[in-house]
Amino acid sequence: MSDCLFCKIAAGEIPSNKVYEDELVYAFYDIDPQAPTHFLVIPKAHIGSCGEITAENSAVVAHAFEVIAQVTRELGITDFRVVSNCGAQAGQSVAHLHFHVLAGRDMTWPPG
Ligand code: C5P
Repeated sequence: MSDCLFCKIAAGEIPSNKVYEDELVYAFYDIDPQAPTHFLVIPKAHIGSCGEITAENSAVVAHAFEVIAQVTRELGITDFRVVSNCGAQAGQSVAHLHFHVLAGRDMTWPPG
């Protein structure tokens, strides 16, 4: 999607602090971290949110979770939270599927 911020980040057109990249996903540190470690994992192909996952595009979601496990292992992180906000009421501000990975502090439940 040509005007999508995260499509541009994944394509390297907008700078980001990259954590990981392969042919399917891109991961980068959040510019407004909500925990000592806070990075985002996004599919390179545009998917608007969790609400747009289908049988045709869901393989990248499993891959994103493999990447989350790999990157957290490499960073030495054992305790972390994965969050995906879907829709404005849930707190989604960028309309490109992304998984927040947060670690390094005590988390509360339920989230606000
Ligand atoms: O769940 P939500 O859609 O609000 O998450 C978007 C996230 O993208 C925010 O945590 C925001 O700080 C992050 N962001 C970023 N780099 C940008 C724009 C937004 O890391 N250039």
